[in-house]
Amino acid sequence: MRIILLGPPGAGKGTQAIRLAEKLHLAHISTGEILRQNVKNNTGLGQDAKGFMERGSLVPDELVSRMIQEKIARPDVKEGFILDGYPRNINQAKTLESILEQDSCDIDIVVYLDTSEAVIIQRLTGRLVCNGCGANFHIKNMPPKVEGICDNCGGKLYQRTDDSEETVKKRIEVYKKEVSSLIQYYDSKGKLRRLSGDEDSEIVLDKIIGLAKTDDLHKA
Ligand code: AMP
Repeated sequence: MRIILLGPPGAGKGTQAIRLAEKLHLAHISTGEILRQNVKNNTGLGQDAKGFMERGSLVPDELVSRMIQEKIARPDVKEGFILDGYPRNINQAKTLESILEQDSCDIDIVVYLDTSEAVIIQRLTGRLVCNGCGANFHIKNMPPKVEGICDNCGGKLYQRTDDSEETVKKRIEVYKKEVSSLIQYYDSKGKLRRLSGDEDSEIVLDKIIGLAKTDDLHKA
């Protein structure tokens, strides 16, 4: 099964993608997380992407698309994946489609997590991310068991530099500019499923699993 999670920064895509990947035995692909690891390791890609990320702008399509093509070609991704943070625009959606076409497969469903601006700001400005496994926590909503330490892998938690209120606002603006065309694109293909991203994460998780199972049943 191949699922795209679509939604603004702070919609809970990362949290949901990690849980879904576990429950549905699928690979989790987060373009933001791959880029952050590249920045951390100071690779060529990381150096090229860093400035865009710090400003809250999109990294150029050709850099991200090459990265996603390499990832999708890996054996552990062949059985299916949850995509979190890609595609971000129509050009990327078309690139994804042509990458999958080479293997005669396609996206099954696109889950759009519609989330209000107040919830986004509250979530992002309190978000903590693990520098080891990329898991997300929240200062108030989902604190780690031990302050500053990841429950899953023991890695150190940090606040993303692009989670400042000013950069969050810029990221929301960039997101709004592209999202309506993406929503239309997947809706016209009958793949779009809408959910509220404002709800509690357990409820959202159950609903996404329900959507995935319904889609599976229809295809069986
Ligand atoms: P995210 O973790 O998805 O919020 O992404 C963090 C940052 O990484 C974004 O603000 C962009 O600068 C960059 N990024 C992540 N995914 C993409 C993508 N598909 N296309 C372009 N830039 C991306």
